[in-house]
Amino acid sequence: MDSYDVIIIGTGAGGGTLARHLAPSGKRILLLERGDWLPRELDNWQTEAVFVDNRYVSPDTWYDAGGTPFQPGVHYFVGGATKMYGAALYRLRKEDFGELQHHDGISPSWPIAYDELEPYYTLAEQLYHVHGARGEDPTEPASSAPYPHPAVSHEPRIQQLADDLAAAGYRPFHAPCGIMLDESNPPFSTCIRCATCDGFPCLVHAKSDAEVLGVRPALEHPNVTLLINSRVVRLETNGEGTAVTEVVVERDGSEERFTSDVVVTACGAANTAKLLLQSANEKHPTGLANGSDQVGRNYMFHDSLAVLALSREENATVFQKTLGLNDFYFGADDFEFPLGNIQMVGKSSSQMYRGEKPGQTKLAPEWTLEKVARHAIDFWLSTEDLPSPDNRVSVDGDGQLRLAYSETNAEAKKRLYAKLKSILGKLDMNSDHLFHRFAYMKTDIPVAGCAHQAGTCRFGADPASSVLNTDCRAHEVDNLYVVDTSFFPSIGAVNPALTAMANSLRVGDHLLERLQ
Ligand SMILES: Cc1cc2nc3c(=O)[nH]c(=O)nc-3n(C[C@H](O)[C@H](O)[C@H](O)COP(=O)(O)OP(=O)(O)OC[C@H]3O[C@@H](n4cnc5c(N)ncnc54)[C@H](O)[C@@H]3O)c2cc1C
Ligand code: SF4
Repeated sequence: MDSYDVIIIGTGAGGGTLARHLAPSGKRILLLERGDWLPRELDNWQTEAVFVDNRYVSPDTWYDAGGTPFQPGVHYFVGGATKMYGAALYRLRKEDFGELQHHDGISPSWPIAYDELEPYYTLAEQLYHVHGARGEDPTEPASSAPYPHPAVSHEPRIQQLADDLAAAGYRPFHAPCGIMLDESNPPFSTCIRCATCDGFPCLVHAKSDAEVLGVRPALEHPNVTLLINSRVVRLETNGEGTAVTEVVVERDGSEERFTSDVVVTACGAANTAKLLLQSANEKHPTGLANGSDQVGRNYMFHDSLAVLALSREENATVFQKTLGLNDFYFGADDFEFPLGNIQMVGKSSSQMYRGEKPGQTKLAPEWTLEKVARHAIDFWLSTEDLPSPDNRVSVDGDGQLRLAYSETNAEAKKRLYAKLKSILGKLDMNSDHLFHRFAYMKTDIPVAGCAHQAGTCRFGADPASSVLNTDCRAHEVDNLYVVDTSFFPSIGAVNPALTAMANSLRVGDHLLERLQ
């Protein structure tokens, strides 16, 4: 049986980042990834292939609380969900690390303060080439370094939107973007600033994803091995149940086993919970490291809403995801509780509408949808969903993943939507680029849209109420760590990937010390 110093299971934001951080140590590292390399092909940038045919959604079946099967929006590839992500790389707010009262209850505090993660946020921003501008976002936490790259510029229609928002008294900011764009030297820029970024893989490897900036740099070190199409199905422990002794893998239809001093799971929040639950044994009868009964619980994925407003003027923007608005993050004049974050999403197209709502758009003539798309300005609204023990991943008798989820904070989500509407109304004051009327297409993201999944193995100081300690090591298993978004005790209202990356670097430093 092959033996390693560290086995990392999963190569997304958490696992890929950790691999890169540990690689220069010379330790023997094995990366196990259930997926393959995402193929580089013209389909990467074809809207129909990506949004209608779901070419890069991996075949998997989960079941909701009532037992109804559904296909989750998951992407099992080297690089994980970051292959498809929008690369909006936000830090959580400093206040997100403390206890926050929301309309529907408490967002619990983290066992570490923002200041402890800050140096790792800075390092993650550097590793992932984040472009941004400090000092514009009123809720931005303190940082020890500037963004490593200048903010991605707004195209004219979005600049107009920023100017109109500012004139109406709001504080729009340049959104933090992980793309390798050099606007000062376009012929030599890796990124070509195209319209097929958010939700698409990047054909030219210019998106700051965990394959390009995590796994590939790690593999330049001879001590790092990657096995693809290798799904970990179980972790086995010693007789006392205090250490993982074998990692059991299904590969090419057969079972293989590996052993390692340290085992790190980074399968994504749902699949890490599933792996621990299906690794139950005599010493861990309800699932590995689950003495607290918290494994799988507190699943969160944001109360999100994708909306588009119709601009009277055409919106010719190519790369739209450059603006954010956090004026309502912690509340509003008429609402004392947090509402959330507003940001742009990738520019929509008529084919996307067909992909998102095949029933409603089936009879719509293409020219109508194209006209909508030409005038569309697309927003993404995120409200924090609160951790609830009943929102949980479990594994049924057949080994199938069940996801029970009921929405929290619906009132805050509704009010954030209303705020956006009211902002658009205020823009009417400008005479040139006004929204003529407020016709929205509204897309609720169902539970299958699990892009921002987090929770399920929260970290904390108390083993009775958390799965992991503050180093993200399982309270009950000395050599088992978790570095995907499972560890989040609360999710805030900004996108989660940079926090997973930063935390991986933090845990990585702990592991480097441990392995000395
Ligand atoms: C379309 C889309 C847009 C997004 N946009 C943004 C954005 O703009 N900003 C942002 O911050 N976040 C965004 N996200 C979310 C972000 O991608 C995730 O938060 C982040 O990737 C989570 O990292 P992770 O390490 O927890 O899991 P993942 O990145 O999903 O990695 C998990 C890995 O584990 C592998 N795996 C799973 N089970 C096993 C197993 N049993 N054995 C071996 N390997 C396994 C998977 O194949 C995968 O490679 C987006 C996600 C999607 C899908
Ligand atoms: S905008 Fe840049 S990073 Fe995004 S897909 Fe296009 S080339 Fe790649």
